[in-house]
Amino acid sequence: MQQLATACEAIAATRKKLLKTGIVADYLRSRTTNEAAVSALFLSGRAFPAWEETTLQVGGRSLWQIVAELSGKDEAALTAAYRRHGDPGAVAAEVLPERAGQGLGVLEVEATFRQIAATRGPAPKSAIVRDLISRATPLEAKYIIKIMTGDLRIGLKESLVEEAIARAYGGTLIEAQRANMLLGDIGETVRLASEGRLAAAEMRLFHPLGFMLASPIESPEEGLSYFAEAAVEDKYDGIRAQAHIENGEVKFFSRTRDEITESFPELPDTLAELRRSAILDGEIVAWDYQAKRARPFSVLQQRLGRKKVSDKMLREIPVAFLAFDVLYAGGELVMDRPLRERAKILDELLMENSRSPQGNEASPRKSAKPGSQGKLSFGDEEKSVTAHIIRAPVFRASSPAELEELFAAAQDRGNEGLMIKDLNSPYTPGRRGKSWLKMKRELATLDVVVTAVEYGHGKRVGVLSDYTFAVWDTSKDRLVNIGKAYSGLTDAEIAEMTQWFLDHTLEDQGFRLVVEPKIVLEVAFNNLMKSDRHESGYALRFPRIVRLRPDKSPEEADTIERVREIPVSTL
Ligand code: AMP
Repeated sequence: MQQLATACEAIAATRKKLLKTGIVADYLRSRTTNEAAVSALFLSGRAFPAWEETTLQVGGRSLWQIVAELSGKDEAALTAAYRRHGDPGAVAAEVLPERAGQGLGVLEVEATFRQIAATRGPAPKSAIVRDLISRATPLEAKYIIKIMTGDLRIGLKESLVEEAIARAYGGTLIEAQRANMLLGDIGETVRLASEGRLAAAEMRLFHPLGFMLASPIESPEEGLSYFAEAAVEDKYDGIRAQAHIENGEVKFFSRTRDEITESFPELPDTLAELRRSAILDGEIVAWDYQAKRARPFSVLQQRLGRKKVSDKMLREIPVAFLAFDVLYAGGELVMDRPLRERAKILDELLMENSRSPQGNEASPRKSAKPGSQGKLSFGDEEKSVTAHIIRAPVFRASSPAELEELFAAAQDRGNEGLMIKDLNSPYTPGRRGKSWLKMKRELATLDVVVTAVEYGHGKRVGVLSDYTFAVWDTSKDRLVNIGKAYSGLTDAEIAEMTQWFLDHTLEDQGFRLVVEPKIVLEVAFNNLMKSDRHESGYALRFPRIVRLRPDKSPEEADTIERVREIPVSTL
């Protein structure tokens, strides 16, 4: 672990990507395959592979207490160190005593992480963490804590680790990227690379793949400026989900690659009947089965994060899965095929399932019928709860005026806006390119990370309702504050967030708490102004919280670069 930590220090010390990947490549080569596999994971800022659902569940507060205890420093000294570094890991490196001896091996650290994850209850977990940190050198502790808090910040994105793997073991960058994308496991990618078998990477069902992402556009003209033939779909306001289906088994994964099947027990049944194994991409929405349209996100929100869903909830807030893409069908990976072909494959898959192609009465129980906005959908009507899989309708637009019209129609249906997709583009997981564009209701909203919170006034006394938030600086290794908003959240959400913030406080300044930068919010505002008030050099006019974005990880928040693209008010 000491060598890994030393490599991390060297990586953080340079901004040159080639140098960074060189350091990683040299380090990986100097290790055994097992050590290199675990190290690659740690260097990507993760304690566990992306597809696993394992989490450490150790709050920043308990880490802080452990560092305080082991260092023997008082709160004032620690707070002063935190002010200097802004990072609990760096504080640990400064205040923990040097110790003689060997320090820890990366495999030992990984095994301990697993032990922490498997242990229930904060006290037993803390005991293991305390023992781990007490055996680490201060530099090791720095990086153990950074990995535990998911906050490595050494300017090393997973894409650079992929590059380093190709450099360390041979193989092309494309092979390394593809293997990592398919396996969703950078450690496994190292293993394959070390055997010279990167090209043999195979997709594995029930291991989530990365999601293709969209870039925002500011005008209908821009929406048609990147490609010749555009498929246009409504932008549904729900949560993104990847469905894996094989032999009657169905699992749904969220954008953060967590399994969310339990929250939607009514969805798997319908998909289980697909005749071929498949991976589908789509959006789960709260669905109004009478009006045949999506209900607002706030309605769906009541269904999120539940392990057990009551019958009442199933009846009152039925959901639907709006499928809009296919990544794998009947044994074939189809991501490289252009969208126009994937769309056909998706239509065929869902038609087979309905057992009633073009209205043919093959099955009296399940029949294809016009769904929302006139397209195919199906579900089991004999059950008390109907769950539909709906093929998201696709439109075409070839002029800005047509796009405007579709945008207005989408909004009339209660949807958020439009997705404009290049019919000739492949499916590129994990990438935010210009092949998918999003045109949203509020052109100026930002996804931001909460960095500090304050107690409210009046009705909001005693709850943490005022949030300071930040965007990434361009290199993505630092968050810079850009504004503060009084909550637009519901009382229940504020209560829940208050508890979360109390549990994840890094520094208690009395009226204000500096918190772990984990919570992503979508904020709307009327104007953007240059200002010295915040570190970003910008301030927002009338910022308001549109909603919480639990589906987004902090890394997915917007950057200052995106802020710079928004026209600045001269007022
Ligand atoms: P945003 O979350 O604002 O970055 O916008 C991208 C998200 O829109 C995706 O991750 C999906 O969850 C969602 N979305 C809604 N409808 C669609 C659609 N038809 N195609 C692709 N993504 C969609």
